[in-house]
Amino acid sequence: MNDKRLQKLGELRRKHKDVITLMPLQTGGLLTEAAKQALIEFGDGYSVCDFCVGNLSAITNPPVREFVGELLPEFLGCEVATVTHGAREAKFAIMHSLAKPGDSIVVDGNRHYTTIVAAERVGLKVIEVPSSGYPEFTIDVNEYEPLIEKYHPGMILLTYPDGNYGNIPDARRLGEIAQRYDVPFILNGAYAVGRMPVNMNELGADFVVGSGHKSMASAGPCGVLGMKKRWEEVVLKKSEAYSNKEVELLGCTLRGVPLITLMASFPYVMERVHDWDEQVLKAQWFSTELEKLGFKQLGEKPHKHDLLHFETPMFYEISQRVRERGYFLYKELENRGIWGPQPGLTKAFKLSTFAASREQLSFVIDSFKSILSKYS
Ligand SMILES: *Cc1c(COP(=O)(O)O)cnc(C)c1O
Repeated sequence: MNDKRLQKLGELRRKHKDVITLMPLQTGGLLTEAAKQALIEFGDGYSVCDFCVGNLSAITNPPVREFVGELLPEFLGCEVATVTHGAREAKFAIMHSLAKPGDSIVVDGNRHYTTIVAAERVGLKVIEVPSSGYPEFTIDVNEYEPLIEKYHPGMILLTYPDGNYGNIPDARRLGEIAQRYDVPFILNGAYAVGRMPVNMNELGADFVVGSGHKSMASAGPCGVLGMKKRWEEVVLKKSEAYSNKEVELLGCTLRGVPLITLMASFPYVMERVHDWDEQVLKAQWFSTELEKLGFKQLGEKPHKHDLLHFETPMFYEISQRVRERGYFLYKELENRGIWGPQPGLTKAFKLSTFAASREQLSFVIDSFKSILSKYS
C-alpha cells in the first residue's frame, strides 16, 4: 500500500496492555474476559439482529429480552428499562419526550456538559442550583425547592455523582422533594450505575441513567435508562406507522456489539457493586496518602466515590522549568506503567482508584513520591 494514511488505518494499535489505569473515564469501562470474547464473536455488523422479529428489546437469541426486560429493571430498581447509545442519549430521550414548549429544567451546578447540550437540543431553559464552590463544591439539594416553586420546571435532574469532583449529593432527599411537587426527577448515574448500588425507586427518582462504557465494563458506546412504569407510554411511545418501533429511539438503539459487551459483563458488574464499601475505603486511603505528599483533594471529604480531583501545584512548578513542560508528568508516569492524569495536565487532575488494587495504588503513591524528589 503506497498511501501512508491508509497503511496507518490498517495497523491501529493502542499501547495499554498491563498498565495501571487511573483515568476516571476508563476505570469502570475495562472489559471482562467474557466481554472480550463476545466482542469478537459479535463484531460483525448487525450480528445481534439474526433472530430479530421487529423490536430490539424482544430478541431472545441473544437473550436481549431477558436482559432488558428483567435483569436491568431488577438491577436499577425500576419498573421499565431500555438501552441507549450512552448516558447523554438517555437524558436527551427523556427530556425530548417529556418537554412541552417553554419548559425549563432545574439541574445541579456540577452537571455534566451533556446535560446542557441535551437540554439545548430540546429547547429547555436550564436553571442551575449552584454548588458551595471551592474547595468542596457540594450540592445542597434543598436548594431545588425554592427554584421549583419559582419556575415550575417540567423536570429536574441531579448528577450522582458529578464527573468533576465525584461528590455524592443527597438523591433520596431530592426524591422526596420531587414527589411532593410531582415534578419528574432524572438521576444521572453515569459514574454510579455499575460501580455502586443504585436503586431508582428507593431514591424516589422517576428516571435513572447509566453509561455502559463509563461504568459497566463495556466497549460502548452504550447506556441504560430505567424509569417508572408511568413514563413508558411517554418515553417509549411506539410509532403510528410501525407499531413495534419506539419513536424516541428511532426504532432500535444498540444494534450491534456494544450491547453484547454490556450483556456479557453484566453478571460481573452486578456482583461488583457489592464491593462498593471497600472501593470507598480504598479511595479515601489513597487520597490521604497523596495529601501527605502535598496534593490537595477537592470535593467532599472524606470522599464517598473513587473519582478524586487533586490540585498539585508542585507538579505545575516543575512543568515551568523542564523541557517537556506539562508533559513531563505523563512521561514519568508512562515510564512506570501508569496511565492516569490527562497528558499535559500538572496543576490539577482527576484520578480514579476503581480499577487498581491497593498494591498497585501503593506503587502509584511511591511513584509520585519519587518523581517529586527527582525534580526537587
Ligand atoms: C461521562 C458522563 C456522561 C456522559 O456519558 P456518555 O455515556 O458518554 O454519554 C454524562 N454524565 C456524567 C456525569 C458523566 O460523567
